[in-house]
Amino acid sequence: MAEIFDLKVNEFMAKVIAKNPGESEFHQAVQEVVESLFPFIEENPKYQHAKILERMVEPERVLMFRVPWLDDSGQIQINRGFRIQMNSAIGPYKGGLRFHPTVNLGILKFLAFEQVFKNSLTTLPMGGGKGGSDFDPKGKSDNEVMRFCQSFMTELQRFIGPDTDVPAGDIGVGGREIGYLYGQYKRIRNEFTGVLTGKAIEWGGSLIRPEATGYGAVYFAEEMLKTRKMDLKGKIAVVSGSGNVSQFATQKLIQMGAKVVTLSDSSGFIYDAEGIDDEKLAYILHLKNVRRGRIKEYADKYNAKYFDGQTPWGIKCDLAFPCATQNEINEDDARELVKNGCYLISEGANMPSTPEAVEVFLESKILYGPGKAANAGGVSTSGLEMTQNSMRLPWTREEVDARLHQIMVNIHETCVKYGTEKDGYINYVKGANIGGFIKVADAMIAQGVV
Ligand code: NDP
Repeated sequence: MAEIFDLKVNEFMAKVIAKNPGESEFHQAVQEVVESLFPFIEENPKYQHAKILERMVEPERVLMFRVPWLDDSGQIQINRGFRIQMNSAIGPYKGGLRFHPTVNLGILKFLAFEQVFKNSLTTLPMGGGKGGSDFDPKGKSDNEVMRFCQSFMTELQRFIGPDTDVPAGDIGVGGREIGYLYGQYKRIRNEFTGVLTGKAIEWGGSLIRPEATGYGAVYFAEEMLKTRKMDLKGKIAVVSGSGNVSQFATQKLIQMGAKVVTLSDSSGFIYDAEGIDDEKLAYILHLKNVRRGRIKEYADKYNAKYFDGQTPWGIKCDLAFPCATQNEINEDDARELVKNGCYLISEGANMPSTPEAVEVFLESKILYGPGKAANAGGVSTSGLEMTQNSMRLPWTREEVDARLHQIMVNIHETCVKYGTEKDGYINYVKGANIGGFIKVADAMIAQGVV
C-alpha cells in the first residue's frame, strides 16, 4: 500500500516539477501536502474525480510587474513585483507581501500555496495569495522605501480591493511599508477601504495585529503541551529571528513563564542564559524597529554570547520557535534539537524546517506544529481586522486577543481530529493539511469547474 502511494506521489510531483521548473520551494511545499493528502483522497474519491489537487497547484492568476523608482542620488532603480492569486474558493485572496532580495516566483508560489490551507484552517472566509518584490529595504532611507512602495502600489492597485485581494505584511514589510502602500492606494483609487491589513490603529488597523503571529504560535504551543499534561512555565525556549514574529512570540513566552534564551538575525544569534526579560525585549524592539540595527548589539549591551554566522539550534532547550525564514532548520539541526531534549517545535515562520528535519521530528514523536497551523494567528487577526473594517467598528484589545486565542484552540482541535494516528500520536502535519483541504475542496466542487 505504502509503495502505491509513493508511486502516485512521485507521478504527481513529476508533473508539478516539469510544469514549474526551478521552483524548488514550491515543489517542497506541494510534496509535503500531497504526501499527507493522497491516502485521504484515495478514501474520498470525489476529490480525485474533481481533480482538486491538480487545480490547487495551479494559481488562479500570477501577476508580475516592473517597479521602477528613484533612489536618493537620483538614479533609477528597477525591481520586480509579484502577486500570486492562488485560490479564491472560500473568500478574497489574502496573504502577505514580502520584500527581500531572495524573493522569486517559486518562493511566493510556495507561500501562496501554504496560505490557502492556513486560511481555511482559521475558519474565517479568506482565500489564499502572496506577493512581494526582490527589493531590499535594508540600508534604504525612509524616502527610498516610500518611493519604492508608491511605485509598487501604482501597479498592484489594479488587481486588489477589499472584496478581491487583501495583502498584508511579511518579511521586510512592517507598519512603515503598509503605511506607504496604503497611502498610495487611497490616493489613486480615492477610497478609504480595508484593502490592506496590518494598518496602524489610527487609520483602520486592529489592536493585537502586530502581536498576533507570535502570540498565536505560543497559544498553539500551549495547546500542544496540554495534550501531554504540560504547560509553558519554567520551560527553556529557543527563538530564531528578531523581527515581528520573534518579538511577540518572545513577549508571550515571557508572559506565560517560559525563559527565552536566544534570538537571531541573518548575521548570527545571541545566547542569554539569564533569559530575555521585558526590559531587554524593549531594547530589542527599539533596536530592530526604530534603529534597524543588528542583533549583535544586544550581546554587547547585556554581556550575552554572540555566535556570528550561526543558527541557535545547538542550544539546549525544551521548546523551539523558528520565527525567521524558510528552511532554517536542516536535518542535522533537527537531530541536535532532539538529542538535546527539545520536545516541542512551534513554527512561527513559514516552512522553516526542511523535509528531512520534519521527518526527524515526526519519527521522534515530539510535538511538532507546522507553520500553516502554528503561525495562522497572524492571518486570523488580519481576518478580524477585515471584519472590523467592514463594520467600521474597532474591537478592544481583550476582545481581539480572546478571538485570536479561540481560533488557535480551534485550529489545534482540527489538527487533533484529522491528525491523530493509531498509536495516539498527533501528526499535526497531516491534521493541518487534511483539515485545511476539506473546506476549500468542497467549495471548489460546489462552484463547478472554475
Ligand atoms: P521580519 O522581516 O519582521 O523579520 C524577519 C527576521 O528573520 C529578521 O530577524 C531577519 O533577519 C530574519 N531573516 C530573514 N531572512 C533570513 C534569512 N534568509 N536567514 C536568516 N535570517 C533571516 O519578518 P516576520 O517576522 O514578519 O516574518 C518571519 C517569518 O514568519 C517568515 O517566514 C514569515 O513568512 C512568517 N510569517 C509572518 C507573519 C506575520 O504576520 N508577519 C504571519 C505568518 C508567518 P535580518 O533582519 O538580518 O534579515
